[in-house]
Formats: sequence, structure tokens, C-alpha cells
Amino acid sequence: VATYEYKCELGHSILIERSMTQEETETTCTAPDCNGGLQRVYTAPVVTFKGTGFYSKGG
Ligand SMILES: [Zn+2]
Repeated sequence: VATYEYKCELGHSILIERSMTQEETETTCTAPDCNGGLQRVYTAPVVTFKGTGFYSKGG
């Protein structure tokens, strides 16, 4: 079982546990009185910066 993070269109953060073999189904927010559509949050791998000097200068 893996935990997936979803973000409700109203801003709620929802964690859903689902078997990795289970197909992704349409989900709605579980917050009371919400029922908003959920958007899967693809969390980026945690990056650890060692030292300084690797900041993007933006653009
Ligand atoms: Zn919601």
C-alpha cells in the first residue's frame, strides 16, 4: 500500500492509501461538505543541497 497525496480544488490536502496495483479512480475530496475534485500531487524527490552556491539566478 502506498500513500498518495492529492490536492483538492479548494485547497484541501488529502492523503489516500491505495494498493499500487489498484487502478487510479476518480476521487473526490473527503473533507466535510466539500466533495471537490482532487488533483494528484506528484511530489518531487527530496533534493538536499550540500553547501551553497547552487541556487538558480532565476530569470
Ligand atoms: Zn476539499
